[in-house]
Amino acid sequence: MKTSMATVCISGTLADKLHACAEAGFDGVEIFEPDLLAAPESPEEIAALAARLGLTLDLYQPMRDVEGVDEDAFQAVLRRAEAKFRLMNRLGIDLVLCCSNVATATVDDDAVSADQLRRLGDLAAGYGIRIAFEALAWGRFIDDYRRAWRVVELADHPAVGVCLDSFHILSRGHDPAAIADIPGEKIFFVQLADAPRLSMDVLSWSRHHRLFPGEGDFDLADFTARIVDAGYSGPWSLEVFNDTFRQTDARRTARHARRSLRWLEDAVSRTLTDAPGDLQMLPDSAAPSAVDFVEIKAEDTSAVEELLGQLGFTPRGRHRTKPVTLWTAGRARVVLNEQHARGWEPRLAAIGLEVDDAEAVDLRMLELHVPRAYRRTYATEERLDGAVAPDGTEVYWAQAADEGEPGWVAEFEHGGPEAPTAIEGVDHVSLSQPWQAIEEATLFYTAGFALRVDSSTEVPGPQGLVASRVLGSPGGEVRLPLNVAPPILAGERAALPQHVAFRCADVRALARAARERGFVPLAMPGNYYDDIAARFDLPAEAVAELRELHLGYDQDAAGTYLHFYTRTIGEVFLEFVERGGSYAGYGAGTAPVRLSAQGRR
Ligand code: MG
Ligand code: MG
Repeated sequence: MKTSMATVCISGTLADKLHACAEAGFDGVEIFEPDLLAAPESPEEIAALAARLGLTLDLYQPMRDVEGVDEDAFQAVLRRAEAKFRLMNRLGIDLVLCCSNVATATVDDDAVSADQLRRLGDLAAGYGIRIAFEALAWGRFIDDYRRAWRVVELADHPAVGVCLDSFHILSRGHDPAAIADIPGEKIFFVQLADAPRLSMDVLSWSRHHRLFPGEGDFDLADFTARIVDAGYSGPWSLEVFNDTFRQTDARRTARHARRSLRWLEDAVSRTLTDAPGDLQMLPDSAAPSAVDFVEIKAEDTSAVEELLGQLGFTPRGRHRTKPVTLWTAGRARVVLNEQHARGWEPRLAAIGLEVDDAEAVDLRMLELHVPRAYRRTYATEERLDGAVAPDGTEVYWAQAADEGEPGWVAEFEHGGPEAPTAIEGVDHVSLSQPWQAIEEATLFYTAGFALRVDSSTEVPGPQGLVASRVLGSPGGEVRLPLNVAPPILAGERAALPQHVAFRCADVRALARAARERGFVPLAMPGNYYDDIAARFDLPAEAVAELRELHLGYDQDAAGTYLHFYTRTIGEVFLEFVERGGSYAGYGAGTAPVRLSAQGRR
């Protein structure tokens, strides 16, 4: 399949955008007219640059308000179009996007629109150009791809076909089934964009909130599969208007965009029973079955060691070759790394995931062109395969051990025997994201690791709203809440600390035992417990115990959530949780209180 992207998707000058698309491996681009108008290069120079970079110029866009007008207005359309066709000849582009009229339409009549498209087609054909007609979701009269196709069918001109844009079709909830009625050769172009389900006017939704495939709520795999099924064989082109992507690094966004098409190619291959040979699936891999380890890195990890000791973790010794120690409790493994960490406060530097097929994940990451994480290992040590997530966290994967501890644990020496503990394993790892990385991170975990988006929420904190999106495995064995720091704090690394939550059988007993070892939990305010007493039908003694131990509490129809937090050390804190029933949340009611308590420290 051929890949393309509209230049409007990314930041920079037109020349910057062409370089970024070429570097990311796109086959071609759509030239967004305002990008060309602002460019200092002549059309011939842009054409030459694209050719030198190996990019085809697939489409010129947009040409607006061309049909559904009276004859005087249409004469002006023809004059304007002819000038643009001459320009397109200079660029060497033979396809133009004409969108349905939003501003000047006065005639609501398919026959009139068809006649005007036919005459426009005649003019275009004289320049060797074809017209792809697109129904905008907010078109004055034509706002549905089925009507756009009726008009094109009526126009019956070899130089006039349709452009299908997933946003305009899926945002309106129009059934994509009628794509099957359009002959593949009359689908002149396809534009792909995902989007979150929002209830807002469709124009603003389209202009600001489009996402790359796989990052929103639309079923892009189904949509694209229908287009392939109809016999379309042209480019899969991204047209994503998004405020974030338009103001962040073009090269990085282009790579991110290209990755989304690789994900889509896989999803479409899996949707079609008879996929064309040029569509390749990614290697199969199930979602990770457990968190293998978390790594906290700092110049001096002793404050974290003290905390882990108070909470009943067992020191399992020092690595044979590196200034790295291992602490375990149940299936939870915490690696403390002081290597190459001069000046670093404790931070969550890496997580390891147990997977059913490490080789498949490796190949997926390779296919997705995800940057790799490198750790020097010696011949006698377990190999570590990893990738760098968009927020900079290194994510490693390893084949799940059949039973017992993974082999790499044996590389740690002179540790104590494992003490009994109420801690069972890692419940979730919360990763704070720079504001511009959340979509890219979502795709990283879904496409790379077959995790899925479980839930999204917003939590009020003293510095603003924290948007949270949970990536999880189907059975909840791995849960990664991704939290976006309020923009006012963005850029300051420690603005929003990361945290690791450990699952325990009895969190009250753990809190008491830890307190006897000198542990001081993050203090929760009295108001919080007054509210718990009001909201939940709990015995007074139970609320008193929560208050005494600084425990958080939540319950829903599925179960209960009991938890407490440590203070923040550097950029990381720990949480200990006990899930009752099948409670699947994260104590969202406690999170604002926690954010505020952390802010006061
Ligand atoms: Mg479009
Ligand atoms: Mg948590």
